[in-house]
Order: sequence, then C-alpha cells, then structure tokens
Amino acid sequence: MSVKVRFAPSPTGKLHVGNVRTALVNWMFAKGQGGSFILRIDDTDLARSTPEFEQGIEDDLAWLGLLWDERHNQSKRFDRYEAAAERLKASGRLYPAYETAEELDRRRKVQLSRGLPPIYDRAALNLTEAEKAAYEAEGRRPHWRFKLDGKRVAWEDLARGHAEVDTASMSDPVLIREDGLFLYTLPSVVDDIDMGVTHVIRGEDHVTNTGAQIEIFEALLGDNGGGSVPAFAHMPLLVGADGQALSKRLGSLSISEMRDQGYEPIAITSHLGRIGTSDPLEVAPSVQALGAGFAFSKMGRSPARYDTADLDRLNAQALHAMDYATAKPRLAALDCDLGEAFWIAVRPNLSKLADVVEMARIVRGPVTPVIEDAAFAEAALKLLPDTIDAGAWGVWTEAVKAETGAKGKALFMPLRLILTGQAHGPDMAAMIVLMGRETLVKRLKGEAG
Ligand code: GLU
Repeated sequence: MSVKVRFAPSPTGKLHVGNVRTALVNWMFAKGQGGSFILRIDDTDLARSTPEFEQGIEDDLAWLGLLWDERHNQSKRFDRYEAAAERLKASGRLYPAYETAEELDRRRKVQLSRGLPPIYDRAALNLTEAEKAAYEAEGRRPHWRFKLDGKRVAWEDLARGHAEVDTASMSDPVLIREDGLFLYTLPSVVDDIDMGVTHVIRGEDHVTNTGAQIEIFEALLGDNGGGSVPAFAHMPLLVGADGQALSKRLGSLSISEMRDQGYEPIAITSHLGRIGTSDPLEVAPSVQALGAGFAFSKMGRSPARYDTADLDRLNAQALHAMDYATAKPRLAALDCDLGEAFWIAVRPNLSKLADVVEMARIVRGPVTPVIEDAAFAEAALKLLPDTIDAGAWGVWTEAVKAETGAKGKALFMPLRLILTGQAHGPDMAAMIVLMGRETLVKRLKGEAG
C-alpha cells in the first residue's frame, strides 16, 4: 500500500508557520515513504474563501519546495458530499435538528447549572413528523447532526501512541448547517475515502474531531462495501520561545511576510521540520533531505518550540553554505553579482541575502573613509603593495605594524575604518583584492566615493 497524505488548508487567510508545519510534516512523511502528497483546498465555505488566498497558498508551498502530486477543490465536490449525506440520512445516522443557537445556549446553561456536561441532549431525535412540519412552516430550516455511537473510539496514533476518545461525552456534531453549508467534518472524510488517503496528519487540536470522524468513516465505509479507516497522527502544537501557545500570534507569522523579510525557504523548512523532534536543529541540504530523514518516532509528545532566534541562525547557516551557482541569479537580481570570489568572501557574514547590497557597496563605493589618525593613513598608503593579491593583506599589515608599532585591534580597526567606512564587515584580505589598488589608494587618501 503506497502512502497518500493530504494537506487541506482553507483559503480564508494566508499560510502561517502553523499550517506550513502541518503541510511540511505531511510532505516529508509522504516523500520519505515514496508516497504522494495531495493539496486539497478546503473551500466549502464559499463566502469566506477567496481565489487570492488560494493562489497565495500555492505560491507559498511552491516557494518552500512542497510540491503536490494531486490537487483538489472541495467546492467542486458538493455532489459527493450530498450523496454521502443522503446515505447517512437513510441509515439514520444523520438527523435534522431545528434548535436555534439561542435555544441551544439556554439548554447548555441549564445543564451546567445542574452540574451536567453541556452536550447536546438529542431532543431532535424525538421530533414527530408533525413537529418537524410545524418548524418548517415557521420558516425554520434544519441543521443536520451525526448520531454518534457513544463508545470509546481508539486508534494507534503515529505521533501520540495509543489514543482514545469517548464519543459518549461529545455532542453529536453538526455536519450541515441550516443554510446548507457543509462544515469540514463530513467533506474531509468523504474526500479521504474517495482519494485513498492512507494517513491523516494534523495538529493535536483535531484529536476530538478524529473520534467523531472515525465513526463517520466507519458509517460510510460500512455501507459501501468496506475499505479501511486511515491511520492518524496528531502533532504537538507549536509554542513560542516563551513556551506559550503560538495560536494567537500565528496571524503575524505568515510565510509571505517571512519571504518579504528575506528568509530562505530551506531555513524555514529545516526549522519547522525539526522542532519538536530528536534531530539537531541544523539547516538541511534540501527539503528532499528533510523528507528522507523524517520519522514519527523522532517526534516527542512535548510541544514544538518556534523560536525566531533559531530561525535566524538556520537562515545564516543556509547562506554560509550556499554555492555561487545557486546564489548567482539572486545576486544578479539585487544588482550585486560581483563574481564568485566576492560571494565566497562575503557569505560568512550574511544573516539575510540582502545584506550583500551593503557589502557590494563597500567594494564598489561610494564609501566615506573614516580616518582617525592622518599619520597612520599616510604610512599605510606608502607601504601599500604594488600588487593586491591574496597574500597582499598579510604582507601589508606586517609592514604597517613594523612602521607604526600598532598591532592587533589598533592595527586592523583603523585600516577597516579607512577602507570600508565601517567597524565590521567581511574578511579584509579578500575584500582588498576585490576593491583593487586604485580604490584602496583613494580611500587611504581620505577621498569619498
Ligand atoms: N481545513 C481543515 C483545517 O485546516 C483541515 C483539517 C484536516 O486536516 O482534516 O483545520
């Protein structure tokens, strides 16, 4: 049996690090097993779904390298959900209820005041045909509830181990709202069956849903001649560096914003793919390598810590390891492609790729030299080697040291300030070769430009 997984985002907002982690773990698991990854747009809520958000989801996944093997829109599959609903109605598992939100709320309050669990009392199951007709005549439309078995539903969760949900402690879930809208619960099961999904991988906030959905799977598979319920994995949720749940802050952690901030896709996927696992938090050579190394057995039960400081560190690592061929087109796009020697010289100093703009300026100018000691600058100018090659910096600084007596920081800092106008930057031995002798002379004379 080959593995088939799905990522089912709703196009009602931008992808954030929380949904991308779900997409990534699905993708890694599928690819690690030689299986396939379905992108299933959960757009049954036509009023809140937009084509722009849908496009954004595709752009973000493609940018991260999480390509899909199949793609579906739930909004194109309403006939399948209708057919499944009809079957559940026929077998008595889906029943109409007419209570308004206010009526349900009132009942819940009464239950709570009596110390009872606030679950739906199934009053609608006892409605006579005449009572239903009277509601309809009043203009009420029914919502439809799935009649749970009220049993312990158990499964072997790939991330949590043995898991159990007691559906007797749950309200019968509403599958279809009074306005006819299918809530995600039923379409998700219908699609998982139709598409042959073998593993449902999602956040642990879905554990209770899974109890109800396994019953729906069994109801639909049972009267459809069999088939099997998929395996489930519920991942621990993301927390921030402070250990607090990230859920409320996720809105500000969108992938498109991170792209605009200059994060490398491999830094994002390495971070999200490895937090909460026993793998070291290091950048992976590729997203394929992440997939090849993934296993649920590496995932712990404790929450995964999303820490921007870690992401920044991985981002720098990704840049420090990037070869020139990969960097070249992106350097060109920033008008900073000064050749391979430049890339090799500056990449160890990069936090974000855009930092190269500043480093290219240091090479090409304009730079305003900072000269704190004119005599020192004059001595350095006089001792500048005729040929500026890889060995020139060593020879030159030795000569300046012998002449001025300056050493260590007192020797290197003034030279850096004169030649770059800044106190920090890439390795000077490589930078002076890139600047060339003419530029060095100009800067040692204190000429801006
Ligand atoms: N659209 C649902 C969600 O994002 C899908 C849940 C699922 O993976 O089954 O919560």
